[in-house]
Amino acid sequence: MENKIKEFKHLEKWQDTLASCIRCGYCFEHCPMFHHTGWESDAPRAKIITAFGLLSGQVEPSESAADKMFSCFYCMRCEAACSSGVPLTEIFTDAKKDLVEMGLKGPGTTSTTQLNCARCLICVGACPHEARSYDGNGITTDPTKCKACGICIEVCPAGAAKIEHHFGTDREDLIERASSFLKTHDSAKAIVFACNWSYYPELQA
Ligand code: SF4
Ligand code: SF4
Ligand code: SF4
Repeated sequence: MENKIKEFKHLEKWQDTLASCIRCGYCFEHCPMFHHTGWESDAPRAKIITAFGLLSGQVEPSESAADKMFSCFYCMRCEAACSSGVPLTEIFTDAKKDLVEMGLKGPGTTSTTQLNCARCLICVGACPHEARSYDGNGITTDPTKCKACGICIEVCPAGAAKIEHHFGTDREDLIERASSFLKTHDSAKAIVFACNWSYYPELQA
């Protein structure tokens, strides 16, 4: 177990904090990721349990563990709802750093279609989290910094910036949700899709 702890040098500092999660579950009902997939393993409580398992050696670092840890919009709703004040997203970020250093990566981050990219660097300047950079050949995204806000996709004039997994925020999904809402709410006159900080372009249409 001691060896496992040494491998997670970013997550290690959260060892006591991870134990302070009382597994109450107040967080997961607020998580858009959980509502999209319906799997509790995608919810914030499960991410905390996974982080605890990684650190204690009970969960093997794997594509599957990375997939869960990277499936997050950083909307912070889980932190607002947490009964124990656990800084969930900071823990997720450190878990992601360790997983990336082990060669593992998951969805939720943006990429660039290099053939279409004009190297204008607009996205690099627009990213509020300094996740995008130019490495001399093309644009790269740091998966531990990207918070899937979608700003780079919106500002890219060439349509080269993209996100692989929309987690239920693509146009078809939004239309389907609006349609089913209208079917059960006869008096509804307008529907507003609001997000506390995301700028995902499909939401602007
Ligand atoms: S920050 Fe991530 S885990 Fe927490 S509620 Fe938002 S999407 Fe879910
Ligand atoms: S989605 Fe947001 S955080 Fe991620 S690279 Fe684009 S602008 Fe930066
Ligand atoms: S904004 Fe689009 S075209 Fe410009 S550097 Fe970024 S990905 Fe490339």
